[in-house]
Amino acid sequence: MYETAAWAKTSKESEFKKINIQRNLPGPKDVTFDVLYCGICHTDLHFANDELGLTSYPVVPGHELAGVVTSVGTDVTSIKVGDNVGMGAIVDCCGSCIQCTEGEENYCTKGFTLAFNYPIVHGGLKSHTGYTLGGYCQTMTVNEKFIVKIPENYPLEAAGPIFCAGVTMYSPLAHWNALAGGKKVGIVGIGGLGQMGIRLAKAMGNEVTAISTSPAKKNDALAIGADTFIVSVDSESLASAENSLDLILNTTSVPIEISIYLTMLRKDGSFVQLGNVTSSNNIDQLPFIMKRISLSGSFAGGTLDTQKCMDFCAKHNIIPSTKLVKAHQINEVYETLQEKNDQIIRYVLDIKASL
Ligand SMILES: [Zn+2]
Ligand SMILES: [Zn+2]
Repeated sequence: MYETAAWAKTSKESEFKKINIQRNLPGPKDVTFDVLYCGICHTDLHFANDELGLTSYPVVPGHELAGVVTSVGTDVTSIKVGDNVGMGAIVDCCGSCIQCTEGEENYCTKGFTLAFNYPIVHGGLKSHTGYTLGGYCQTMTVNEKFIVKIPENYPLEAAGPIFCAGVTMYSPLAHWNALAGGKKVGIVGIGGLGQMGIRLAKAMGNEVTAISTSPAKKNDALAIGADTFIVSVDSESLASAENSLDLILNTTSVPIEISIYLTMLRKDGSFVQLGNVTSSNNIDQLPFIMKRISLSGSFAGGTLDTQKCMDFCAKHNIIPSTKLVKAHQINEVYETLQEKNDQIIRYVLDIKASL
């Protein structure tokens, strides 16, 4: 094990402070990189503040890492020292189930390991705490498989959100055949996920409808590529989109009345749930028969889609809106995010400036 600096909360009530953590010594298949930037995602807050009752302390959040490789193991073939790389939410998996072998570790049947606050089970990582410690840190060591290559010309500080929000949107767009364009895609919720969904769906050549409860989001949504804007709490606005969409990606994690959205689907359309909602939903089943529509879900993305999403974003110049902050501002940023969950701007921790 080697020691590296990290920013952690040591209890539910404490503020973030700098501590030293242990990382595993790089094995033959491992890549070590200096973390230069780490996006601050809303999931970080849920765990750091123990909103789910699952948090072990000290907690080092962060699953949107970007930086520069400092060493590689003897068996590493695709990455070299000096490369710009990143890492997203998944840092280990069983490696042998069909999903893992096909690069869809996000559906690993034996369970993936997430970047922080997740028990170490598969043995690809080691930790002195018994659970993973995330990206608010100086260095990271992880198996080559979970490393994303960031193209040379892509701004490193903006890459982190691609591995979280980006791939969470890219993966369902690819799966439901929007990659080649020509579809009518609705994106519900214009926050961190939604903005990436609009940009990606548009760049793929689809017609994009942004759907929000807040009319104030209209200008932002149109500015980043939406063709149409629908206010989901306005019945007239909703009616104008009736039977118009092939695919609806719901990024919100608040309970919504799904039946309302099904009216917007045309024949053979799909409604795809992306945000985690814990309450149940009463859904009228008639539209499924009458329009042959589907209700589905999708979780994040595997290593294959993450790299494809990164390369697509670089090719099409899709760059998430970010704001750099230093470690001493984390508490402040958390307070801001706590008040409002749907910021288009992603706060990104500038690690080097914080050390
Ligand atoms: Zn995230
Ligand atoms: Zn697996």
